[in-house]
Amino acid sequence: MSETLLKDDILRHLTYTLGKDPDHAQTYDWRMALSFAVRDRIVESWFAATRKTYDADAKRVYYLSMEFLIGRLLEDGIINLRLLDEAREAFETLGLDFQTVVEDEPDAALGNGGLGRLAACFLESLSTLGVPAYGYGIRYEHGLFKQGIVGGRQVETPETWLSQQHAWEFERPEVRLPIGFGGKVKVTGERAVWTPAEAVDAEGFDTPIVGWQGKWANTLRLWSAKAQEPFDLNRFNEGAYAAAAEPEALARTISRVLYPDDSTEAGKELRLKQEYFFTAASLRDILRRYDSTHNDITQLPKRVAIQLNDTHPAIAGPELVRLLHDERGMTFDDAVETARACLSYTNHTLLPEALESWGEGLFGRLLPRHLTLVDRIDAAHAKANPTRKVAARGDGQVKMGELSFIMAHKVNGVSALHTGLMKETVFEELHRLHLERIVNQTNGVTPRRWLLSCNPRLSGLITESIGDAWVDDLEQLKGLESHIEDAAWLDAYHAAKQDNKAELSNWMGQTQGFAADPHMMFDVQIKRMHEYKRQHLNILETIALWQEIRDNPNAGWTPRLKLFAGKAAPSYYFAKDIIRLINDVAEIVNADPVTSPYLKVAFIPNYNVSLAEKLIPAADLSEQISTAGKEASGTGNMKFALNGAPTIGTLDGANVEIREHVGEENFFLFGMTAQEVMDRRSVADHAAQAIAADPRLARAVEAVRKGTFAPGDTDRHAGIAYNIAGPDYFLVASDFSDYWRVQREVDSAFADEKGWARMAALNTARSGWFSSDRTIKGYVSDIWGASSLL
Ligand SMILES: *Cc1c(COP(=O)(O)O)cnc(C)c1O
Repeated sequence: MSETLLKDDILRHLTYTLGKDPDHAQTYDWRMALSFAVRDRIVESWFAATRKTYDADAKRVYYLSMEFLIGRLLEDGIINLRLLDEAREAFETLGLDFQTVVEDEPDAALGNGGLGRLAACFLESLSTLGVPAYGYGIRYEHGLFKQGIVGGRQVETPETWLSQQHAWEFERPEVRLPIGFGGKVKVTGERAVWTPAEAVDAEGFDTPIVGWQGKWANTLRLWSAKAQEPFDLNRFNEGAYAAAAEPEALARTISRVLYPDDSTEAGKELRLKQEYFFTAASLRDILRRYDSTHNDITQLPKRVAIQLNDTHPAIAGPELVRLLHDERGMTFDDAVETARACLSYTNHTLLPEALESWGEGLFGRLLPRHLTLVDRIDAAHAKANPTRKVAARGDGQVKMGELSFIMAHKVNGVSALHTGLMKETVFEELHRLHLERIVNQTNGVTPRRWLLSCNPRLSGLITESIGDAWVDDLEQLKGLESHIEDAAWLDAYHAAKQDNKAELSNWMGQTQGFAADPHMMFDVQIKRMHEYKRQHLNILETIALWQEIRDNPNAGWTPRLKLFAGKAAPSYYFAKDIIRLINDVAEIVNADPVTSPYLKVAFIPNYNVSLAEKLIPAADLSEQISTAGKEASGTGNMKFALNGAPTIGTLDGANVEIREHVGEENFFLFGMTAQEVMDRRSVADHAAQAIAADPRLARAVEAVRKGTFAPGDTDRHAGIAYNIAGPDYFLVASDFSDYWRVQREVDSAFADEKGWARMAALNTARSGWFSSDRTIKGYVSDIWGASSLL
């Protein structure tokens, strides 16, 4: 580790890297100088890790993901290198505010939500555990759009994280791989030569990801698309200036934007190009690295494990077969076996609209050789498994879920419930043919970011109580249970939460127009806006509560702040309507003097990792209310439990396991089970029945319908009311009464301050299992066959 003082390094970088005189340096300059000083220290362990991996000829894990929702990296690096005190001190002596500098960093939002954040937590855990690994993805010029709220409505503007230099990446101009599309295939015997019609270069950019205590660092390599001939000088000389720059503009389109959809299929040619672009570049890079120290390609699976994060990189199956068979001369059957021994696939959703498939016309036009290989993979699979008819290509489509399954030696779900449902639904046929293939790996979150760094008050108390070994051995939080019966300790636990709430309240006062009273219950639902996540169930209950408080203001209501945040995909109109309803309800409810002491509503714009880090430590109640069977796992639920916010939730995804771990008396369960949901859907008028049976629900839906929250524009919310009263596919109406009932139990429980603190503390103490370190150990032993080099 570096021997120089951090402060000296900051000043050195400010002067010689940034070229700034300290007297004239801006926040940006200081932030960059600090980042470079921290980065220098990470680079040292990064090189050491690479050397160790080569020396041991160790198996490497390659995590292919279309999304990495990494957020800010500066504080992460500082925390993991244990430089926080030194960095704070340095800035104090320089007369600068450390927090301002840290918050100057753009939030890298190269992902939509849970799937991308999982990939980021996994990289950090892989480094903490010292497992040699690379993350591979796309260096999007524009990450997920920025969300503003104007007149209650979502407005999207482009995200521009690269408008300033990205402090953490190293450009690798020497790593430039040509990636082709379209063109012709010349078959000779069973092999073929593919001559693409167009090609772009994939250029690598490396970001080191450091683990806890800086013992190990792995690489996140993101691909940027570049034109092979960047500039047409002849056209320029002819005066066609725009046309001259066209090749570069066209090529760069591939890595220009992250698709802003979450759980919906984007049937776009550009999307398929993006998928092939980063997958093909990654595979070529993997083989190149393997070739540099090995000469027997048949031994590839001994040194290479490739994880497909969802089906987005599913083309890896046929592409690896193509590389091994067409280009390296392996027999087709050996190529398939070798590829399968390397590949494994994580399924993230059972929602039919989110299962990727491509029309064979488009697929064949872009990837002509791969379409033939998909057929041959299907034929070989059918021959080996004649009892059932199931294939990757059918009905004019190439189905990426089936393709991933057939080409993977292991397929995993992300919670016990989800894995079970996978076996019974989407992959029922394939599961029966391959009973050993599906395994479960329940998701997790990294405790470095999601407790140590984001919640210094609570993590300080924990370390004072049980030492700091919990940071990379989260099950040690169990040791807190013996402290919980100590009244003074519980007071300290409660005080940490209260201080977090006061801090959030201050921030809201400065940025959101009102500071909520920190004595209210902070009831928080933050996640992508989606019908299955049922923000509309929450806002409907809010409306019913408002009506009830107005009827009966002196009934001893437990004061609540309902906090919402989340982005809706730009073309997902219903989700956007829900955002507008929440904002409209907030406007009416917050202005009501009768209910104001007991109920406030806030929608905080632009939900991202940094906002999550701010809100979660201050939450009292975690809303995890998806229709059972629809949320594969969730990871937000884990962050809340860890930070001492008990859950109100359905038996869905990892909620089931959270409840088992924290104890059912410390979890507010409501609603139908996944099985009951399926049964209920077959009742023709389920919503009407539910509304007829609950006058409270009827009144709330009626208020939405008649425009109570849209004075002067009374039809504005009618669509939502008709949906809830009519098709209601996500069963908001049917789960409402039970949700209301349990929310009132939450009210009483919260009114007992000591009892609530105890419940919150037990959630923290018993959430150790939800560390992504535990998840990664599961993948390492059950799927990858890799090992730790620490
Ligand atoms: C954790 C996280 C998610 C996932 O939240 P869920 O509630 O599991 O959907 C999404 N976005 C961000 C920014 C996160 O930090």
